[in-house]
Amino acid sequence: MAPIVTNLEEIVEGYISKNNVMIFSKSYCPFCTKVKNLFDSLSVKYEVLELDHAENGEDVQKYLIEKTGQKTVPMTFIKGELLGGCDDTMKANAENRLLRLVGSAQNGVSAAGGVAEAAIKDNNVVVFSKSFCPFCTKVKDLLDSLHVKYEVLELDQRDDGSDIQAYLVEKTGQKTVPMTFIKGTRLGGCDDTLKAHAEGRLLDMAGATESNGIDASAILDLDSYQYDLVVIGGGSGGLAASKEAATLGARVAVLDYVCPTPLGATWGLGGTCVNVGCIPKKLMHQAALLGEAAKNMKHFGWEVKEENVTHNWQAMVSNIQDYIKSLNWGYRVALQDKNVKYLNAYGEFIDHHRLKTTTKRGKVTEITAKHVILATGGRPRYPDIPGAKEFCITSDDIFSLPYPPKKTLIIGASYIALECGGFLHGLGYDVSVMVRSIFLRGFDQDMAGQVGEYMENEGVKFVKKCVPTQVEKIADPQDGEPGLFKVTGKYTNGDDFSDQFNTILLAIGRDACTDKIGLDKVGVTVNSKNLKVPTDDRERSNVPYVHAIGDINDGKLELTPVAIQAGRLLAQRLFGGASDVCDYVNVPTTVFTPLEYGAIGFSEEDAVKFFGEDNIEIYHQKLWPLEWTIAHRPENVCYAKLICNKANKNRVVGFHYLGPNAGEVTQGYAIAMKLGATKKHFDETVGIHPTCSETFTTLAITKSSGQSADGGGC
Ligand SMILES: Cc1cc2nc3c(=O)[nH]c(=O)nc-3n(C[C@H](O)[C@H](O)[C@H](O)COP(=O)(O)OP(=O)(O)OC[C@H]3O[C@@H](n4cnc5c(N)ncnc54)[C@H](O)[C@@H]3O)c2cc1C
Repeated sequence: MAPIVTNLEEIVEGYISKNNVMIFSKSYCPFCTKVKNLFDSLSVKYEVLELDHAENGEDVQKYLIEKTGQKTVPMTFIKGELLGGCDDTMKANAENRLLRLVGSAQNGVSAAGGVAEAAIKDNNVVVFSKSFCPFCTKVKDLLDSLHVKYEVLELDQRDDGSDIQAYLVEKTGQKTVPMTFIKGTRLGGCDDTLKAHAEGRLLDMAGATESNGIDASAILDLDSYQYDLVVIGGGSGGLAASKEAATLGARVAVLDYVCPTPLGATWGLGGTCVNVGCIPKKLMHQAALLGEAAKNMKHFGWEVKEENVTHNWQAMVSNIQDYIKSLNWGYRVALQDKNVKYLNAYGEFIDHHRLKTTTKRGKVTEITAKHVILATGGRPRYPDIPGAKEFCITSDDIFSLPYPPKKTLIIGASYIALECGGFLHGLGYDVSVMVRSIFLRGFDQDMAGQVGEYMENEGVKFVKKCVPTQVEKIADPQDGEPGLFKVTGKYTNGDDFSDQFNTILLAIGRDACTDKIGLDKVGVTVNSKNLKVPTDDRERSNVPYVHAIGDINDGKLELTPVAIQAGRLLAQRLFGGASDVCDYVNVPTTVFTPLEYGAIGFSEEDAVKFFGEDNIEIYHQKLWPLEWTIAHRPENVCYAKLICNKANKNRVVGFHYLGPNAGEVTQGYAIAMKLGATKKHFDETVGIHPTCSETFTTLAITKSSGQSADGGGC
């Protein structure tokens, strides 16, 4: 899981970059009308976004003000550059600059012609293509496989596509796509491009041999790769991509290999989520919730003696591990059913399109692939202090720990730290959490504070503003019992910390597994700060035939459903002629702490930063779940909060919920948010009674009113 992000910026930049002329306008504004009339009279095609009609028009205008400094509309962009407002546009026309700027010189060349000419001039290689055309795909695949960088204009995906094609027909006489231009000269269609490659001319023409440092002779013929696709990493993203690609007829292999933890834990096919992430975490959380429910039972008339309710760690671990093994087996069968070759081996590049695979027993094989998807995920980070790797465990060990952890220190305040601390405390263990700075970085800090406060009130101890400096062993674990370790640390005020624990669980972050897979051999760029792979909106790395999905995709959310969605859509684009891309905006998420926390969209602090404090209204209410009332569980700890953008019809831009079943409550509202729901839509929705979720349909108290949000019930 990861901080919540938005990509309004990407959307606006998309409008600007994809349209030769882009006008941000308001439908009632006479100056905007003047500008649109001018372009109409010049027969220049333009795209217009009427901000007063757009769902997120106010947000767009804010972004534009920040980007350009211009506070009003109309705002005209030509070829991605700001021309200015009404006066600037009129002036450019009066000075005979406007048509030149849009590429529509007086010789009658259309605006679409300007776009085509600019693409031909500005790019070493450009392919005019249609996304569904198999011949176009063949040409793009060829260029990808040769790692030749090219610009592609998918004419069926653009409003001006048919005009561009008409212009190209007139210019070249060639009536069909693909149409390949290299260094401003037309090479021709599919056959011409393939022929140029077969004759060894293509790379020379594109100048790729020198610029990419590629030995053209080392590149295999397109059809001689063993696999159409090799996926490195059989986790959430890798399995989804490989199965989808195989369903679409591709020859696919997936490599999955688990490097053991320093303490020796290892697991089967399926990656982090199923083995050492979401699945065992949620099951252990459920075990803790059941313990809590057992305490409540007597209030509902059950005659249960609390002293008889005890928990057996080994029984829980054994049942969870059995279930995980059944899932591992299910994944293997699914790969077999779909005709995906599963290789239980470590994969790394040795050259372009060539991978070395190494099994546990050291057997090395070489395979080749036309496309490669990197889906290697991440692993827990260890601090550079004595004893960390020798004596501490991580989330990779806890779910299969053969003995009860007993007195535990969790180091870190990430969602993984708080979730593990939460369920261990719920199972009855003495838990301390050592926190360097803040809880749940990247999440709404008001909510994060409440999550921590609830845990503290329930008995979890927090060692705040402190970092560990050393871990020493006092006794080894043995006979189903944990060991004993001394942890030394330093508070930020300089004071010393020292205590003894049976288990120390590190949860200070995760590192992307990209440093040992030979990316340097093929020139894939990696973000040196986090080792993740930067990609474009089609998950493509700087090397066109290499893609990255899931936790290693730089700047994207670290969540299982995100990895799956990205993998599935990528396979459909590579092998199914599809064009849909993964939408990373308003992805819902839930933190499974004792008091669960569900969120969608902006945190309060990000909303203030993005929209401005004056434009934000926050509606909130504490609530007391009906189930908690007669069980005498605390009042005023569950909480519902909506963040609304006043400047855009009170559109809900942030949804935050603290309470039972947060995942179930939050999921449905994610659709409403995707559809641009406003506060009025929430108010008009009839609630389901008696539930916690219905609170979101009746929120009336604003934060700005200063009125107390306490006292809500079902
Ligand atoms: C404790 C914990 C709890 C979590 N809880 C949630 C949750 O509740 N909800 C949620 O949505 N997400 C959760 N996540 C995050 C989720 O697990 C990840 O986002 C998801 O698994 C990422 O999928 P992936 O395909 O990118 O990588 P992974 O699932 O990590 O898979 C990568 C696979 O590649 C293998 N591999 C790596 N290098 C190589 C190589 N060179 N050759 C062959 N194989 C290789 C790895 O061993 C692994 O099997 C949790 C994570 C953790 C750690």
